[in-house]
Amino acid sequence: MSVHNNFIAGEWIGSGDQIANINPSDTNDIVGEYAQADRDQVSQAVDAAYAASAGWAQSGTQQRFDFLDAIGTEILARKQELGTLLSREEGKTLAEGIGEVARAGQIFKYFAGEALRNAGELIPSVRPDLSVEVSREAVGPIAIITPWNFPIAIPAWKIAPALAFGNTVVFKPAELTPGSAWALTDIIARSGVPEGVFNLVMGPGAEIGELLLNDHRIRAVSFTGSTDTGRIVAGACSGRNARYQLEMGGKNPLVVLNDCDLDNAVNCALNGAFFSTGQRCTASSRLIVEESIHDAFVAAFVQKMEGLVIGDALVEGTDIGPVVDQTQLNKNLEYVQIGKEEGAELLTGGEVLEREKPGFYQRPALFIDTDNSMRINMEEIFGPVASVIKVSNLDEAMHRANDTQFGLSAGICTSSLRSAARFKQESQAGMVMINAPTAGVDYHVPFGGTKESSFGPREQGGYARDFYTTVKTAYTQT
Ligand code: ADP
Repeated sequence: MSVHNNFIAGEWIGSGDQIANINPSDTNDIVGEYAQADRDQVSQAVDAAYAASAGWAQSGTQQRFDFLDAIGTEILARKQELGTLLSREEGKTLAEGIGEVARAGQIFKYFAGEALRNAGELIPSVRPDLSVEVSREAVGPIAIITPWNFPIAIPAWKIAPALAFGNTVVFKPAELTPGSAWALTDIIARSGVPEGVFNLVMGPGAEIGELLLNDHRIRAVSFTGSTDTGRIVAGACSGRNARYQLEMGGKNPLVVLNDCDLDNAVNCALNGAFFSTGQRCTASSRLIVEESIHDAFVAAFVQKMEGLVIGDALVEGTDIGPVVDQTQLNKNLEYVQIGKEEGAELLTGGEVLEREKPGFYQRPALFIDTDNSMRINMEEIFGPVASVIKVSNLDEAMHRANDTQFGLSAGICTSSLRSAARFKQESQAGMVMINAPTAGVDYHVPFGGTKESSFGPREQGGYARDFYTTVKTAYTQT
C-alpha cells in the first residue's frame, strides 16, 4: 500500500513514521497509510509558508478567485468518491459524507467570491487636505488545526477564507481522519497555488500541533477541537501575541414546549442528538421537555430511536454509523455508567452492538429523570447519548438551557411566536434554532458560540474576514 505523504513547499515529502487509517465500520479495512511529519518537516512547512506569504498577500484577487473556484469545482465533481472516503474513515453515513463533501465545495466557491469582495473604506479626515483609507490585509502564515468529526468541511471553512484573503497556510488535520485532509491537499496542490502557499503536516497534535502554536512565524491559529486543547492553543498564542480563534465543545439544549408539533420535535431531537453518531459539537445532548408533553414526547422519541438502523456507514439504509474509534466508544460507555450511578434512568440503548464486521457500534442511549447537576448534562460526551430534563414551564426551560458552561447552539420547538422570540433573545448561545435541529447550519452565515464554546471572531460567511485579515489605516495628504 503506498504511503500518503505530507505536502511541504510544493513537494510531497515522505517520512520515517506512518500510521494506518482504520475504518471504524470494519476495523480489518485499512483506508491507507499516512506519513507522520517530524519536527524538521514542521519547521520546513513553516519556512515555506513564511517565504511565500509576502508574494501571496500581493497576488491578484482574480488569481485567488480562480484557484478557489477551481478547487470548489473539483470537490463538487468528486463528491461521491470523496464522500465515500470520508464515511469510510470517519464512520458517518454515506449520505452525510457526500453532503459534507458538497458543503466543502460550496465553501470554496463562496470564498472565491469573497476574495473579490474584500472592500475597504474611504473616510474624510478631520484635517483639511487629508484622506483616510481603511483596508483589509492578510495576517501572514496561519496554522489550521482541525478535529476528526467534520474532516473536510471544517478544514474547508478555515482554509478557503485564509487563502482568499491572502494568507499562507500550514494545515494540521486530526490524526484519525488524514484521508480527507490528504485528498483536499491533493486538490489544492494540483490547482497550481504557488509553492509554500499551502502545506500539509500530519501527525500527533501534542507534538506537531504544539510546534505550530509556538513558532513565532505563525501569526494566527484557527483551531476546532476539545476545550482542553483550546486552552493550550490560547495559552501559547496569547503568550506570543499571535491571534487565535477557537471552536470547542457544546452541551446544546433542545427545548420542547407543550404547544409544539410533536412529530417535528421528535425529528429535531432525533437528528440533533444522534445523527453523525452524536459526534457534532452542535448535537442536542440535553432535551429539555415541558412536563405536560414529557410522556408523549418520550414515548414517540423512543419508538423512533428503536427504528434506527445502526450499522456500516457505507451500507445503504444505515441511519447511524459507528463511533469513530475505541477511545471514543470507551468514553461513551463510561458516561452511560456515570449516568446510571448518578441516578438517571437509562430508558433505552447505550450498549455495544455486534455487526457482521468488527467495528465500534453503539446503540443510541436515552436517559430520563435527569437534572442539570449531573455530569452527563454538564460535560460534553461527543457520542450518541442524550438526556431528558423535565421542566414545568418556559421560565424553567430557559434557566436550564442557559445553565451550562457552553453556549454553541440552542433550539426550541414551539408554535408560539412569543415563546420563540423570548428564546431567541434570552439564549446564551451563538446559534439559535426555532423548530429546527440544533445541528445543521448554512455555510454563508456566521458559525460560533459564547462562553466556553468559542473564542475570537466568528467563522464562516462574511464574518470570517475579521479573523483572516488585519486592518490598515492609510492617510494621504493631497
Ligand atoms: P478531539 O477530542 O476532537 O480529538 P482534540 O482537541 O484532541 O479534540 O483535537 C483537535 C485537534 O487538535 C487535532 O488535530 C489534534 O491533533 C490537535 N491537538 C491535540 N492536542 C494538541 C496540542 N497540544 N497542541 C496543538 N494541537 C493539538
